[in-house]
Amino acid sequence: MNSIVKAHWDSKLPIYDISHLKLQKKGIKSLLIDVDGTLLSRQSNVIPLNVKKWIRESKKLFSLYLISNNPSDERIRKIAKELDIRYKSNALKPRKKITLDVISEMNEDIKNIAIIGDRIFTDVMVGNRCNIQTILVKRLSRKGLPLKLNLTLILEKLISIFLK
Ligand SMILES: [Mg+2]
Repeated sequence: MNSIVKAHWDSKLPIYDISHLKLQKKGIKSLLIDVDGTLLSRQSNVIPLNVKKWIRESKKLFSLYLISNNPSDERIRKIAKELDIRYKSNALKPRKKITLDVISEMNEDIKNIAIIGDRIFTDVMVGNRCNIQTILVKRLSRKGLPLKLNLTLILEKLISIFLK
């Protein structure tokens, strides 16, 4: 299916099942990571243990940055502090401005940067617009498990086909 908004890698996996080796093979050195739905449920303040472990491993291999559309700086700051990662809240994805600021702060060849997130119309779209790699992951439930049925994603995929 062709679409103007397209993830380079539609993983169909939760973030904690994304292979670090595969990311390295894609040449990725820096990762911009969405927060709500990607690292934890929007309805939760608890970062799942397997997510923490995945982040811990990722830090050894990649330069990380949290980039969230959540307007609550307090929420995103707490999560970023717990994971000890730089962050931006209220990032206004798919608008480019803040993402481009982060990209330039990463000081990395653009082809070695990827954004990872659970939404097409924010994470993937801003990644496409900023010419970085895009990885779509499954949204996490309140219990930290991948959602079986994600209506938002189904709708976004449908719309993106028609946007072509
Ligand atoms: Mg999200």
